[in-house]
Amino acid sequence: MAAVVLEDESLRDGLQFEQKILTLDQKLSLYRLLAAAGVRRLQVGSFVHPKLVPQMADTAELIETVRGETPGVLLTALVLNDKGLERALRCGLGHLSLSSSASDSHSLKNVKRPADQAFASLLELVRLAVAAGLQVRAGIQCAFGCVYEGAVPEARVLEMAARLADSGANELNLADTAGMANPVQVKRLVAKTRAALPQLPISIHLHDTRGLGLTNMLAAYESGVTLFDVAAGGLGGCPFVKGAAGNVAAEDAVNLFEQIGVETGIDLKALCRVVDRYEQLLDRSLPGRMNRVIQSQRAACG
Ligand SMILES: [Zn+2]
Repeated sequence: MAAVVLEDESLRDGLQFEQKILTLDQKLSLYRLLAAAGVRRLQVGSFVHPKLVPQMADTAELIETVRGETPGVLLTALVLNDKGLERALRCGLGHLSLSSSASDSHSLKNVKRPADQAFASLLELVRLAVAAGLQVRAGIQCAFGCVYEGAVPEARVLEMAARLADSGANELNLADTAGMANPVQVKRLVAKTRAALPQLPISIHLHDTRGLGLTNMLAAYESGVTLFDVAAGGLGGCPFVKGAAGNVAAEDAVNLFEQIGVETGIDLKALCRVVDRYEQLLDRSLPGRMNRVIQSQRAACG
């Protein structure tokens, strides 16, 4: 069966709204543990205004420090506007994640702009980044529904996807920002997107708000998707989405794929040590399941 690539976003989506600000050294040690566990794509931060998201203020420094340290790892970060793009270019980043929302209400809360305006800016930003020689992943937030608006029409998502492909995006990220997707819907939207844009690689970003994260991941895999966003420990959540829970836990995704014989390249036990480290640093248990299992195995053996 086709191998999958898991992009860990614990350092960005996971940490961005944590109250406790981690130091650069703490983030560096987390990055190195993730890379040593075999994670080959890491979204390590975002270029947003440091006053708005203080946790992300050291993204450039983090990238400058680790760039070149782990040649097999694709380093990426989230960029929201042209100032962010400039900062990303200055620190020598080769891959970016850009996105906007399919839902007007979510867009107004998240970036204080209606969805169509934010999307027009996104298209422009994709063109600028591609012209600057960067690899660009373009994302559609709330692609599977919105807590404020309910269902998001598939036709709208497909239209956005086609325009992102036209503007030169190298990969399309369909994001279940609100954790509202179900597996039937995931299969349908992935199939329609692949039929319309067969050349464009698709990645999926899932939140486990309603407990369907792994089920949706498997549904996407069975539809041909091999790129998934995860976060160690199941960290994450969005203050602009009522009741949002974290991303699918990286260790649970690794276990799922291991169990069905699909290669991830990630060492589950080593990954769980990263979750331990996050739990120490944040001083609480994280929602991922496999770390508990590995901990109890360690206790039983020791
Ligand atoms: Zn997210």
